[in-house]
Amino acid sequence: MIILLIIILLFLIYQHINKEVPILMYHRIADIPNDRNTVSPIMFEQQLQYLKRHGYTTISLQDLYHHFTLKSPLPSKSILLTFDDGYEDNLMNALPLLKKYDMAATVCIISNWIGQENNWEDYKNKPHCRTMDLAQLQEWLKQGMFICAHTVNHPFLPRLNNEEILHELASCKISLEHQLHIPIDFLCYPYGDFDNRVKILAKQAGYKAALGIFKGTDFWRNDLFSLKRVVISSRQPLWEFALKVSSLHMIFIGMRILEYRIKQYRDLLPPTLLQRIFSKHGNKKHINKNN
Ligand SMILES: [Zn+2]
Repeated sequence: MIILLIIILLFLIYQHINKEVPILMYHRIADIPNDRNTVSPIMFEQQLQYLKRHGYTTISLQDLYHHFTLKSPLPSKSILLTFDDGYEDNLMNALPLLKKYDMAATVCIISNWIGQENNWEDYKNKPHCRTMDLAQLQEWLKQGMFICAHTVNHPFLPRLNNEEILHELASCKISLEHQLHIPIDFLCYPYGDFDNRVKILAKQAGYKAALGIFKGTDFWRNDLFSLKRVVISSRQPLWEFALKVSSLHMIFIGMRILEYRIKQYRDLLPPTLLQRIFSKHGNKKHINKNN
C-alpha cells in the first residue's frame, strides 16, 4: 500500500515538473574569473550548443503568458533565457552567440541605470562594467531580442512603502515604453525579492507577469506574478546545465525553496529556545569530552 502511494506521489511530481518551462537566469557574459554571476562566452556557447543539439526552442515571456492565459501551445522543448540588469556584454558577447544559434533572450532593464557604470551594485570587489545605452537597447530589440522592466533603481522592493514600490514599478514601465516605443508588459523583481504587496502593486502598475527566482515562490503552483527561475552561474559544469534545463530543473528550484523555508522557520524560533538547544548540545559535547 505504501509503495503504491509512493509511486502515485512520484508520478504526480513527475507530471507536475514535466510541464514546466525552464526559465534560466543569467547576468553577465564575459571573461571575469571568480565572479559567480559572470558566465564566460566559451561556456555560454557550449550551453547554447547543448540546447540546439537537444532540440530546445527559446521563447519569449509573451509566448509564456499566452500559453498560461490562452492555452496557446508551446514547442515541446521550450526554454526562456533571461539576463538581469542589462549589461553591455550581453550585447557584445551574448547577442552574436544567440544569433549564431538562432535563439532569443530577454534582458531586464533598470531604467535609471541605462548606459552607465554598474554602481547600484555596492558590494565589495565588484567587477566594473557598463550597462547598455539606449542605442544599444534598440539594437538588441532590432536583432529580435526582448526587454522587460527591472525597476527604476534596483531596490529590495518589500522594504519600501506602497508609494515607493508603485513608483519603482510604474515609472520604469513608462520610461522604457517612452524611450523604446514598445509595450513593456513584464517585470523582473530585483534580487528575486517580492511579497504579496509587491505582487498586487505590480498588477496595479499594468504588468502581465513578473519573474522571481525562488524566494516567495510556490513549488506546486504556477503564478504569473512569481515565475520561478533557475540560476546559471559561472561554476556550472555542462552536465549540471543539462539537468537544469531538463524536467529536473524543478528539483533545483524545489531545493532552493526548501532551503529558504527552513531558514525562515529557523529565524522564527525565539532566540532563547535556540540558545537552550545549543547550550544543551554544548554541554553534551563537554561531558563526552570529559569521558
Ligand atoms: Zn538585478
